[in-house]
Amino acid sequence: MSAALTAAEIIAVGSELLGWSRLDTNSLFITEQLAALGIDVKGKSVVGDDRERLRAVFTESLRRSDLVILTGGLGPTDDDLTREVVADALALPMSEEPAITATIARRFSRRGLEMPDVNRRQAMVPRGATPLPNPHGSAPGLFIEAEGKVVVLLPGPPRELQPMLTALCERGLLSARAGAERVFKVSVFTTQRSESHVEELVQPIYSRWRDQHPPVETTILATPGQVELHLSLRAADEAAAMKRLESARQQLVAVLGDSAFTTDGRPLHRLVGDMLRQRRLTLAAAESCTGGLLLERLTGVPGSSAYVAGGIVAYTNTLKTTLLGVEPALLEQHGAVSEPVAAAMADGMRERSGADVSIAITGIAGPGGGSPEKPVGTVVVAVLAPGRPMSVRTHSFPGGREHVRFQATQAALDTLRRLL
Ligand code: AMP
Ligand code: MG
Repeated sequence: MSAALTAAEIIAVGSELLGWSRLDTNSLFITEQLAALGIDVKGKSVVGDDRERLRAVFTESLRRSDLVILTGGLGPTDDDLTREVVADALALPMSEEPAITATIARRFSRRGLEMPDVNRRQAMVPRGATPLPNPHGSAPGLFIEAEGKVVVLLPGPPRELQPMLTALCERGLLSARAGAERVFKVSVFTTQRSESHVEELVQPIYSRWRDQHPPVETTILATPGQVELHLSLRAADEAAAMKRLESARQQLVAVLGDSAFTTDGRPLHRLVGDMLRQRRLTLAAAESCTGGLLLERLTGVPGSSAYVAGGIVAYTNTLKTTLLGVEPALLEQHGAVSEPVAAAMADGMRERSGADVSIAITGIAGPGGGSPEKPVGTVVVAVLAPGRPMSVRTHSFPGGREHVRFQATQAALDTLRRLL
Protein backbone atom coordinates (compact mmCIF):
# COMPACT_ATOMS: atom_id res chain seq x y z
CA MET A 1 0.00 0.00 0.00
CA SER A 2 1.39 3.36 -1.01
CA ALA A 3 1.63 6.43 1.18
CA ALA A 4 -1.31 8.84 1.54
CA LEU A 5 -1.68 11.62 -0.99
CA THR A 6 -1.03 14.84 0.83
CA ALA A 7 0.93 17.14 -1.49
CA ALA A 8 -0.42 17.73 -4.96
CA GLU A 9 0.85 19.75 -7.86
CA ILE A 10 -0.81 20.92 -11.07
CA ILE A 11 0.75 21.37 -14.51
CA ALA A 12 -1.31 23.31 -17.05
CA VAL A 13 -0.05 22.50 -20.52
CA GLY A 14 -0.61 24.74 -23.54
CA SER A 15 1.27 27.52 -25.29
CA GLU A 16 -1.94 29.57 -25.45
CA LEU A 17 -1.84 29.80 -21.64
CA LEU A 18 1.46 31.70 -21.78
CA GLY A 19 0.21 34.41 -24.09
CA TRP A 20 -2.72 36.71 -24.43
CA SER A 21 -5.35 34.27 -25.51
CA ARG A 22 -6.22 32.05 -22.54
CA LEU A 23 -5.98 32.00 -18.77
CA ASP A 24 -5.38 28.82 -16.81
CA THR A 25 -8.65 28.48 -14.92
CA ASN A 26 -8.57 24.69 -14.71
CA SER A 27 -6.12 24.76 -11.82
CA LEU A 28 -8.59 26.79 -9.74
CA PHE A 29 -11.27 24.16 -10.23
CA ILE A 30 -8.84 21.31 -9.56
CA THR A 31 -7.54 22.97 -6.38
CA GLU A 32 -11.06 23.37 -5.06
CA GLN A 33 -12.01 19.76 -5.80
CA LEU A 34 -8.85 18.40 -4.18
CA ALA A 35 -9.28 20.61 -1.11
CA ALA A 36 -12.66 19.00 -0.52
CA LEU A 37 -10.82 15.66 -0.35
CA GLY A 38 -8.25 17.07 2.04
CA ILE A 39 -5.48 17.15 -0.55
CA ASP A 40 -3.44 20.37 -0.59
CA VAL A 41 -2.20 21.79 -3.85
CA LYS A 42 1.32 23.00 -3.05
CA GLY A 43 2.15 24.54 -6.38
CA LYS A 44 1.32 24.83 -10.04
CA SER A 45 3.14 25.41 -13.30
CA VAL A 46 2.14 26.58 -16.73
CA VAL A 47 4.15 25.06 -19.57
CA GLY A 48 3.93 25.63 -23.31
CA ASP A 49 3.59 22.82 -25.84
CA ASP A 50 7.28 21.98 -25.59
CA ARG A 51 8.38 18.39 -25.12
CA GLU A 52 11.66 19.03 -23.27
CA ARG A 53 10.21 21.68 -20.97
CA LEU A 54 7.19 19.59 -20.12
CA ARG A 55 9.32 16.57 -19.38
CA ALA A 56 11.59 18.58 -17.09
CA VAL A 57 8.70 20.20 -15.21
CA PHE A 58 6.83 16.89 -14.89
CA THR A 59 9.87 15.03 -13.57
CA GLU A 60 10.54 17.73 -11.01
CA SER A 61 6.89 17.85 -9.90
CA LEU A 62 6.74 14.10 -9.49
CA ARG A 63 9.89 14.15 -7.38
CA ARG A 64 8.45 16.52 -4.78
CA SER A 65 4.68 15.72 -4.84
CA ASP A 66 2.64 12.53 -4.45
CA LEU A 67 -0.07 13.62 -6.84
CA VAL A 68 0.55 15.40 -10.12
CA ILE A 69 -2.41 16.53 -12.21
CA LEU A 70 -1.78 17.65 -15.77
CA THR A 71 -4.39 19.45 -17.86
CA GLY A 72 -4.36 20.07 -21.59
CA GLY A 73 -2.38 18.63 -24.46
CA LEU A 74 -4.50 15.49 -24.86
CA GLY A 75 -5.79 16.45 -28.30
CA PRO A 76 -5.11 14.56 -31.52
CA THR A 77 -2.63 17.00 -33.08
CA ASP A 78 1.16 17.15 -33.09
CA ASP A 79 1.35 19.88 -30.46
CA ASP A 80 -0.57 17.70 -27.98
CA LEU A 81 2.28 16.08 -26.12
CA THR A 82 1.14 15.41 -22.58
CA ARG A 83 0.25 11.73 -22.99
CA GLU A 84 3.51 10.83 -24.72
CA VAL A 85 5.76 12.88 -22.45
CA VAL A 86 4.25 11.42 -19.26
CA ALA A 87 4.39 7.82 -20.54
CA ASP A 88 7.95 8.34 -21.65
CA ALA A 89 9.05 9.94 -18.37
CA LEU A 90 7.50 7.08 -16.41
CA ALA A 91 8.96 4.53 -18.86
CA LEU A 92 5.52 3.05 -19.51
CA PRO A 93 4.97 1.61 -22.99
CA MET A 94 1.72 2.67 -24.66
CA SER A 95 -0.71 0.67 -26.70
CA GLU A 96 -3.93 1.49 -28.48
CA GLU A 97 -7.08 0.59 -26.58
CA PRO A 98 -9.60 -0.62 -29.19
CA ALA A 99 -12.61 0.21 -26.99
CA ILE A 100 -11.49 3.85 -26.84
CA THR A 101 -10.90 4.00 -30.60
CA ALA A 102 -14.41 2.63 -31.09
CA THR A 103 -15.91 5.25 -28.74
CA ILE A 104 -14.12 8.08 -30.56
CA ALA A 105 -15.16 6.68 -33.95
CA ARG A 106 -18.78 6.58 -32.74
CA ARG A 107 -18.60 10.27 -31.76
CA PHE A 108 -17.57 11.08 -35.31
CA SER A 109 -20.14 8.83 -37.00
CA ARG A 110 -22.94 10.41 -34.96
CA ARG A 111 -22.05 13.63 -36.78
CA GLY A 112 -21.91 11.77 -40.10
CA LEU A 113 -18.10 11.90 -40.20
CA GLU A 114 -15.34 9.36 -40.42
CA MET A 115 -12.73 9.40 -37.64
CA PRO A 116 -9.46 10.96 -38.87
CA ASP A 117 -6.51 8.67 -38.29
CA VAL A 118 -4.79 11.22 -36.01
CA ASN A 119 -7.48 10.64 -33.38
CA ARG A 120 -6.06 7.15 -32.73
CA ARG A 121 -3.44 8.94 -30.61
CA GLN A 122 -6.19 9.67 -28.11
CA ALA A 123 -6.78 5.93 -27.69
CA MET A 124 -3.18 5.30 -26.64
CA VAL A 125 -3.00 4.14 -23.02
CA PRO A 126 0.19 3.72 -20.97
CA ARG A 127 0.55 0.26 -19.44
CA GLY A 128 -1.48 -0.09 -16.24
CA ALA A 129 -3.23 3.26 -16.63
CA THR A 130 -6.98 3.62 -16.13
CA PRO A 131 -8.72 5.63 -18.87
CA LEU A 132 -11.24 8.19 -17.62
CA PRO A 133 -14.31 8.43 -19.88
CA ASN A 134 -14.98 11.78 -21.53
CA PRO A 135 -18.69 12.18 -22.38
CA HIS A 136 -18.09 15.73 -23.65
CA GLY A 137 -15.16 15.26 -26.00
CA SER A 138 -12.94 12.74 -27.71
CA ALA A 139 -9.89 12.72 -25.40
CA PRO A 140 -10.22 10.35 -22.44
CA GLY A 141 -8.33 11.24 -19.28
CA LEU A 142 -5.82 8.91 -17.68
CA PHE A 143 -5.29 7.80 -14.08
CA ILE A 144 -1.82 6.38 -13.54
CA GLU A 145 -0.26 4.89 -10.41
CA ALA A 146 3.50 4.77 -10.64
CA GLU A 147 6.42 4.80 -8.26
CA GLY A 148 4.01 4.99 -5.30
CA LYS A 149 2.54 8.19 -6.68
CA VAL A 150 -0.51 9.18 -8.68
CA VAL A 151 -0.52 11.03 -11.99
CA VAL A 152 -3.78 12.22 -13.56
CA LEU A 153 -4.11 13.55 -17.09
CA LEU A 154 -7.18 15.66 -17.85
CA PRO A 155 -8.29 17.37 -21.08
CA GLY A 156 -7.90 21.15 -21.40
CA PRO A 157 -11.43 22.35 -22.22
CA PRO A 158 -13.12 23.14 -18.87
CA ARG A 159 -16.43 21.64 -20.02
CA GLU A 160 -14.65 18.32 -20.51
CA LEU A 161 -12.33 18.53 -17.52
CA GLN A 162 -14.87 19.50 -14.89
CA PRO A 163 -17.30 16.57 -15.23
CA MET A 164 -14.38 14.18 -15.62
CA LEU A 165 -12.69 15.32 -12.41
CA THR A 166 -15.99 15.36 -10.54
CA ALA A 167 -16.62 11.77 -11.67
CA LEU A 168 -13.09 10.76 -10.65
CA CYS A 169 -13.59 12.27 -7.18
CA GLU A 170 -16.93 10.47 -6.85
CA ARG A 171 -15.36 7.21 -7.89
CA GLY A 172 -13.15 7.40 -4.82
CA LEU A 173 -9.85 6.67 -6.59
CA LEU A 174 -8.31 9.75 -5.01
CA SER A 175 -10.16 9.87 -1.71
CA ALA A 176 -9.25 6.23 -1.01
CA ARG A 177 -5.66 7.42 -0.82
CA ALA A 178 -6.26 10.89 0.57
CA GLY A 179 -6.13 10.04 4.26
CA ALA A 180 -9.03 10.46 6.65
CA GLU A 181 -9.11 14.25 6.78
CA ARG A 182 -11.13 16.50 4.54
CA VAL A 183 -11.55 20.24 4.35
CA PHE A 184 -14.90 21.76 5.35
CA LYS A 185 -15.86 25.34 4.60
CA VAL A 186 -18.32 28.06 5.39
CA SER A 187 -18.35 31.68 4.31
CA VAL A 188 -19.90 34.97 5.38
CA PHE A 189 -20.36 37.82 2.89
CA THR A 190 -20.81 41.41 3.99
CA THR A 191 -21.48 44.63 2.18
CA GLN A 192 -21.36 48.36 2.98
CA ARG A 193 -18.32 47.88 5.22
CA SER A 194 -14.67 48.29 4.30
CA GLU A 195 -12.21 45.42 4.47
CA SER A 196 -10.29 47.04 7.34
CA HIS A 197 -13.48 47.66 9.27
CA VAL A 198 -14.55 44.04 8.86
CA GLU A 199 -11.05 42.90 9.83
CA GLU A 200 -11.15 45.00 12.97
CA LEU A 201 -14.49 43.51 13.99
CA VAL A 202 -13.50 39.89 13.43
CA GLN A 203 -9.90 39.89 14.71
CA PRO A 204 -10.84 39.43 18.39
CA ILE A 205 -12.91 36.39 17.42
CA TYR A 206 -10.16 34.98 15.24
CA SER A 207 -7.68 35.23 18.08
CA ARG A 208 -9.98 33.15 20.27
CA TRP A 209 -10.03 30.44 17.59
CA ARG A 210 -6.30 30.33 17.15
CA ASP A 211 -5.71 28.12 20.19
CA GLN A 212 -8.33 25.58 19.23
CA HIS A 213 -7.44 22.30 17.60
CA PRO A 214 -7.64 21.74 14.75
CA PRO A 215 -7.52 25.47 13.95
CA VAL A 216 -10.19 27.25 11.93
CA GLU A 217 -8.34 28.75 8.95
CA THR A 218 -9.58 32.17 7.91
CA THR A 219 -9.29 34.19 4.70
CA ILE A 220 -10.58 37.67 4.02
CA LEU A 221 -11.31 38.55 0.40
CA ALA A 222 -12.35 42.06 -0.52
CA THR A 223 -13.95 43.12 -3.76
CA PRO A 224 -15.57 46.52 -4.31
CA GLY A 225 -18.97 46.35 -2.73
CA GLN A 226 -18.36 43.09 -0.90
CA VAL A 227 -16.08 41.64 1.74
CA GLU A 228 -15.98 37.85 1.99
CA LEU A 229 -14.85 35.87 5.02
CA HIS A 230 -14.01 32.27 4.26
CA LEU A 231 -13.52 29.76 7.07
CA SER A 232 -12.19 26.28 6.66
CA LEU A 233 -11.36 23.40 8.90
CA ARG A 234 -9.40 20.25 8.21
CA ALA A 235 -10.86 17.29 10.09
CA ALA A 236 -11.81 13.65 9.84
CA ASP A 237 -15.17 13.92 11.59
CA GLU A 238 -17.64 15.80 9.40
CA ALA A 239 -20.33 16.30 12.03
CA ALA A 240 -17.88 17.71 14.58
CA ALA A 241 -16.25 19.94 11.94
CA MET A 242 -19.55 21.36 10.76
CA LYS A 243 -20.66 22.00 14.33
CA ARG A 244 -17.55 24.07 14.99
CA LEU A 245 -17.85 25.93 11.72
CA GLU A 246 -21.49 26.67 12.39
CA SER A 247 -20.61 28.13 15.76
CA ALA A 248 -17.81 30.14 14.14
CA ARG A 249 -20.25 31.43 11.54
CA GLN A 250 -22.68 32.53 14.22
CA GLN A 251 -19.97 34.41 16.11
CA LEU A 252 -19.07 36.33 12.97
CA VAL A 253 -22.66 37.16 12.11
CA ALA A 254 -23.18 38.37 15.68
CA VAL A 255 -20.47 41.05 15.37
CA LEU A 256 -21.12 41.93 11.73
CA GLY A 257 -24.83 42.35 12.34
CA ASP A 258 -27.06 43.34 9.49
CA SER A 259 -24.17 43.90 7.07
CA ALA A 260 -23.64 40.12 6.85
CA PHE A 261 -26.06 39.42 4.06
CA THR A 262 -25.34 35.79 3.25
CA THR A 263 -23.65 32.73 4.67
CA ASP A 264 -24.50 30.33 1.87
CA GLY A 265 -22.40 31.90 -0.87
CA ARG A 266 -25.35 33.49 -2.68
CA PRO A 267 -24.37 36.80 -4.26
CA LEU A 268 -26.47 39.82 -3.31
CA HIS A 269 -28.46 40.01 -6.56
CA ARG A 270 -29.49 36.38 -6.16
CA LEU A 271 -30.40 36.80 -2.51
CA VAL A 272 -32.55 39.86 -3.23
CA GLY A 273 -34.16 38.04 -6.17
CA ASP A 274 -35.06 35.16 -3.87
CA MET A 275 -36.54 37.59 -1.34
CA LEU A 276 -38.67 39.24 -4.04
CA ARG A 277 -39.88 35.86 -5.25
CA GLN A 278 -40.81 34.69 -1.74
CA ARG A 279 -42.71 37.91 -1.07
CA ARG A 280 -44.33 37.79 -4.53
CA LEU A 281 -43.11 41.28 -5.40
CA THR A 282 -42.04 42.70 -8.75
CA LEU A 283 -39.26 45.19 -9.34
CA ALA A 284 -38.53 47.90 -11.89
CA ALA A 285 -35.37 49.98 -12.11
CA ALA A 286 -34.56 53.41 -13.52
CA GLU A 287 -30.84 53.53 -14.13
CA SER A 288 -28.65 56.40 -15.18
CA CYS A 289 -24.93 55.98 -14.41
CA THR A 290 -25.21 52.17 -14.15
CA GLY A 291 -26.67 51.94 -17.67
CA GLY A 292 -28.65 48.77 -16.97
CA LEU A 293 -26.05 46.99 -14.84
CA LEU A 294 -28.51 46.47 -11.99
CA LEU A 295 -31.04 44.81 -14.29
CA GLU A 296 -28.26 42.87 -16.00
CA ARG A 297 -27.25 41.39 -12.64
CA LEU A 298 -30.83 40.60 -11.63
CA THR A 299 -31.86 39.11 -14.98
CA GLY A 300 -28.68 37.03 -15.22
CA VAL A 301 -30.39 34.66 -12.76
CA PRO A 302 -32.60 31.98 -14.36
CA GLY A 303 -36.25 32.45 -13.42
CA SER A 304 -35.87 36.16 -12.69
CA SER A 305 -38.90 36.92 -14.87
CA ALA A 306 -40.92 35.94 -11.81
CA TYR A 307 -39.92 39.20 -10.09
CA VAL A 308 -38.23 41.54 -12.57
CA ALA A 309 -40.78 43.75 -14.37
CA GLY A 310 -38.18 45.71 -16.34
CA GLY A 311 -36.77 49.19 -16.40
CA ILE A 312 -35.49 52.23 -18.18
CA VAL A 313 -31.98 53.47 -18.82
CA ALA A 314 -32.40 57.23 -18.72
CA TYR A 315 -28.99 58.73 -19.26
CA THR A 316 -29.86 62.23 -20.45
CA ASN A 317 -31.98 64.80 -18.64
CA THR A 318 -34.39 64.72 -21.58
CA LEU A 319 -35.11 61.04 -21.13
CA LYS A 320 -35.37 61.41 -17.38
CA THR A 321 -38.20 63.81 -18.15
CA THR A 322 -39.89 62.15 -21.11
CA LEU A 323 -39.62 58.54 -19.94
CA LEU A 324 -39.74 58.92 -16.16
CA GLY A 325 -41.64 62.18 -15.73
CA VAL A 326 -38.94 63.98 -13.78
CA GLU A 327 -39.85 67.72 -13.75
CA PRO A 328 -37.35 69.79 -15.77
CA ALA A 329 -37.39 72.36 -12.97
CA LEU A 330 -36.17 69.71 -10.51
CA LEU A 331 -33.27 68.79 -12.80
CA GLU A 332 -32.50 72.48 -13.32
CA GLN A 333 -32.53 73.32 -9.63
CA HIS A 334 -30.75 70.28 -8.10
CA GLY A 335 -28.88 68.67 -11.00
CA ALA A 336 -29.33 65.13 -12.32
CA VAL A 337 -27.24 63.65 -9.50
CA SER A 338 -29.32 64.69 -6.52
CA GLU A 339 -31.67 63.21 -3.98
CA PRO A 340 -34.82 64.95 -5.27
CA VAL A 341 -34.13 63.71 -8.83
CA ALA A 342 -33.38 60.15 -7.69
CA ALA A 343 -36.62 60.13 -5.72
CA ALA A 344 -38.57 61.48 -8.70
CA MET A 345 -37.00 58.80 -10.93
CA ALA A 346 -38.06 56.06 -8.48
CA ASP A 347 -41.58 57.53 -8.23
CA GLY A 348 -41.90 57.80 -12.01
CA MET A 349 -40.57 54.29 -12.48
CA ARG A 350 -43.02 52.75 -10.05
CA GLU A 351 -45.95 54.65 -11.47
CA ARG A 352 -45.14 53.81 -15.10
CA SER A 353 -44.27 50.16 -14.52
CA GLY A 354 -46.88 49.23 -11.97
CA ALA A 355 -44.15 47.19 -10.22
CA ASP A 356 -44.26 46.78 -6.43
CA VAL A 357 -40.68 47.94 -5.90
CA SER A 358 -38.75 50.57 -7.78
CA ILE A 359 -35.10 51.52 -7.67
CA ALA A 360 -33.42 54.60 -9.15
CA ILE A 361 -29.69 55.13 -9.53
CA THR A 362 -28.09 58.40 -10.66
CA GLY A 363 -24.45 59.30 -10.20
CA ILE A 364 -21.05 60.25 -11.55
CA ALA A 365 -19.10 57.13 -12.53
CA GLY A 366 -16.12 59.06 -13.87
CA PRO A 367 -13.42 59.51 -14.81
CA GLY A 368 -14.80 62.87 -16.05
CA GLY A 369 -17.87 64.80 -14.96
CA GLY A 370 -16.96 65.38 -11.31
CA SER A 371 -17.09 68.73 -9.51
CA PRO A 372 -15.97 69.88 -6.05
CA GLU A 373 -19.53 69.49 -4.69
CA LYS A 374 -20.19 66.25 -6.55
CA PRO A 375 -16.90 64.44 -7.12
CA VAL A 376 -16.54 61.28 -9.18
CA GLY A 377 -18.03 58.39 -7.21
CA THR A 378 -21.04 60.37 -5.99
CA VAL A 379 -24.09 58.17 -6.53
CA VAL A 380 -27.64 58.70 -5.31
CA VAL A 381 -29.78 55.61 -4.82
CA ALA A 382 -33.52 55.76 -4.23
CA VAL A 383 -35.54 52.69 -3.30
CA LEU A 384 -39.30 52.53 -3.01
CA ALA A 385 -40.65 49.38 -1.36
CA PRO A 386 -44.27 48.64 -0.34
CA GLY A 387 -45.29 49.97 3.04
CA ARG A 388 -42.02 51.85 3.51
CA PRO A 389 -41.09 55.49 3.21
CA MET A 390 -38.89 56.21 0.18
CA SER A 391 -35.22 55.53 0.99
CA VAL A 392 -32.88 58.05 -0.67
CA ARG A 393 -29.18 58.09 0.05
CA THR A 394 -26.13 59.80 -1.41
CA HIS A 395 -23.08 57.53 -1.53
CA SER A 396 -19.48 58.31 -2.22
CA PHE A 397 -17.71 55.34 -3.80
CA PRO A 398 -13.98 54.96 -4.31
CA GLY A 399 -12.34 53.48 -7.40
CA GLY A 400 -12.62 53.71 -11.15
CA ARG A 401 -15.69 53.77 -13.36
CA GLU A 402 -16.31 50.03 -13.31
CA HIS A 403 -16.00 49.83 -9.52
CA VAL A 404 -18.24 52.83 -8.92
CA ARG A 405 -20.93 51.37 -11.15
CA PHE A 406 -20.78 47.98 -9.45
CA GLN A 407 -20.86 49.48 -5.96
CA ALA A 408 -23.90 51.54 -6.98
CA THR A 409 -25.82 48.38 -7.89
CA GLN A 410 -24.59 46.71 -4.71
CA ALA A 411 -25.80 49.63 -2.58
CA ALA A 412 -29.19 49.60 -4.31
CA LEU A 413 -29.61 45.87 -3.75
CA ASP A 414 -28.49 46.12 -0.13
CA THR A 415 -30.89 48.97 0.58
CA LEU A 416 -33.74 46.92 -0.85
CA ARG A 417 -32.66 43.86 1.15
CA ARG A 418 -32.90 45.87 4.36
CA LEU A 419 -36.32 47.25 3.43
CA LEU A 420 -37.89 43.91 2.52
P1 AMP B 1 -5.98 21.03 -25.20
O1 AMP B 1 -6.51 19.93 -24.36
O2 AMP B 1 -4.56 21.37 -24.88
O3 AMP B 1 -6.18 20.77 -26.68
O4 AMP B 1 -6.80 22.34 -24.86
C1 AMP B 1 -7.94 22.69 -25.56
C2 AMP B 1 -8.52 23.99 -25.06
O5 AMP B 1 -8.82 23.90 -23.69
C3 AMP B 1 -7.59 25.20 -25.13
O6 AMP B 1 -7.58 25.84 -26.34
C4 AMP B 1 -8.16 26.08 -24.07
O7 AMP B 1 -9.25 26.80 -24.60
C5 AMP B 1 -8.68 25.13 -23.04
N1 AMP B 1 -7.72 25.01 -21.95
C6 AMP B 1 -6.57 24.29 -21.97
N2 AMP B 1 -5.94 24.37 -20.80
C7 AMP B 1 -6.71 25.16 -20.01
C8 AMP B 1 -6.57 25.63 -18.66
N3 AMP B 1 -5.54 25.28 -17.89
N4 AMP B 1 -7.54 26.42 -18.17
C9 AMP B 1 -8.61 26.76 -18.95
N5 AMP B 1 -8.77 26.36 -20.21
C10 AMP B 1 -7.85 25.56 -20.74
MG1 MG C 1 -3.27 22.51 -26.08
